[in-house]
Amino acid sequence: MPNLGVKYGLTLRRRYLSVWNRLKKKRACPKCGSTHFRRLVIGVWECEKCGYKVAGDAYDLVQE
Ligand SMILES: [Zn+2]
Repeated sequence: MPNLGVKYGLTLRRRYLSVWNRLKKKRACPKCGSTHFRRLVIGVWECEKCGYKVAGDAYDLVQE
């Protein structure tokens, strides 16, 4: 976890950690369950096993 220093407020730090954790979290393919589910480009996730693609924004919301 990166050290953000004391100059950042608690609110900003919380917001940053939320994004950080979201990006780090392992994803499982909703179709086949494979964890080889990666972000293809910003906003699009793809399963390397079955080729399933999903819009990341919507998927992110489901995960929270
Ligand atoms: Zn899959």
